[in-house]
Amino acid sequence: MSTTLESHPPTQTGSFGHARALVCRACGGEQPLGPFYACRECFGPLEVAYDFPRVTRAGIEGGPPNIWRYRQLLPVRADIASIPNTEPGFTRLIKADNLARELGMVSLWVKDDSGNPTHSFKDRVVAVALAAGRELGLKVLACPSTGNLANAVAAAAARAGMKSVVFIPHDLERAKVLSTAVYGGTLIAVKGNYDDVNRLASEIAGEEDDWAFVNVNVRPYYSEGSKTLGYEVAEQLGWRLPRQVVIPVASGSQLTKVDKGLAELTQLGLVESTPYRIFGAQANGCSPVAEAFRAGRDVVRPVRPDTIAKSLAIGNPADGPYVLDAVRRTGGAVESVTDAEIRDGIALLARTEGVFAETAGGVTIATLKKLVETGQLDPTQETVVFNTGDGLKTLDAIADRVGPAATIEPTYAAFRAVFR
Ligand SMILES: *Cc1c(COP(=O)(O)O)cnc(C)c1O
Ligand SMILES: [Zn+2]
Repeated sequence: MSTTLESHPPTQTGSFGHARALVCRACGGEQPLGPFYACRECFGPLEVAYDFPRVTRAGIEGGPPNIWRYRQLLPVRADIASIPNTEPGFTRLIKADNLARELGMVSLWVKDDSGNPTHSFKDRVVAVALAAGRELGLKVLACPSTGNLANAVAAAAARAGMKSVVFIPHDLERAKVLSTAVYGGTLIAVKGNYDDVNRLASEIAGEEDDWAFVNVNVRPYYSEGSKTLGYEVAEQLGWRLPRQVVIPVASGSQLTKVDKGLAELTQLGLVESTPYRIFGAQANGCSPVAEAFRAGRDVVRPVRPDTIAKSLAIGNPADGPYVLDAVRRTGGAVESVTDAEIRDGIALLARTEGVFAETAGGVTIATLKKLVETGQLDPTQETVVFNTGDGLKTLDAIADRVGPAATIEPTYAAFRAVFR
């Protein structure tokens, strides 16, 4: 870590729009915008702070149909939309009346982020990290990944004409391995779990001065991309906040930044100030944040992941304590579900709304169901649940429970014999 801090001059070299500085989430200390992720004083995590201009709904609505419509609220240059990129975001928000009825809820929406260019929400964060990497003069786009980030980094680097180096655990789903490798770039499988891969990446980041490790040395910028999920939900609801949001938790970055995004919309006067509750969703096989929540602890104890929800399998979540803060402050909760419930969640969403989620979406739907059943979430209040990835990447999760009703000869009689 200290090598990274010392080997770069602490000066702003590019254009980060209205971003002002990096501020420490632990001690509040500020440092200039640069390739840093840890506070010089206390090693706390850094996040981007802004001097926002006057931002209007009309200005946003007149922007492109992707995350760059919110460019004034992101650490990116004004002409970012005109630089070749994967153009993620502005995915559909669907009214989920069938699922609401099934769960005994009054008003439910699914924010379907599987509609992004590489079929997960990770395209949002990578687009912002890539923009920052460019401004900082970094040459290689890299990451440790549980799968979806690998897809997004390899694709974004290809489109930007950059080199990429992606590190994954060796036992990842086949679909995620192939759909990363296809974009070119270098893909390295590491014998270990995600936390091992992440440790290795931090070590390499300390050595390679001109690499942008999207979720390591440019993590403060990367994280800002998740705010756009919150912005979009509010805009798509007609510029208002939902009362309850259910969000999957891996490192916890997405959940904390959706909270930040919703708070910014209120501060900027783009939505009326209304209370909202944030809920986090984890798999039992990797639920360090849910366990801390249930135990009333502030400290998140690392676990060794063992779940089919590999995209959420981070045993030592960097933003865990901030997730606990956000859900406790807003009156939400963090819950977790079994692998069987995850499979049920995938099937339930597909059957009721025609949306095929990956295991992370199964976690979130199953957690929503559990939150309603246990009375933690109010079924009479408007709720948005996130599907953050595409079921085609995790087919094995449902492979042994769905398939053809019958295999028949190509005759009407054969069809009638099986279909009554
Ligand atoms: C990475 C990921 C998340 C959550 O990521 P955080 O690390 O908590 O920001 C959620 N869903 C999917 C499908 C992901 O790939
Ligand atoms: Zn600090």
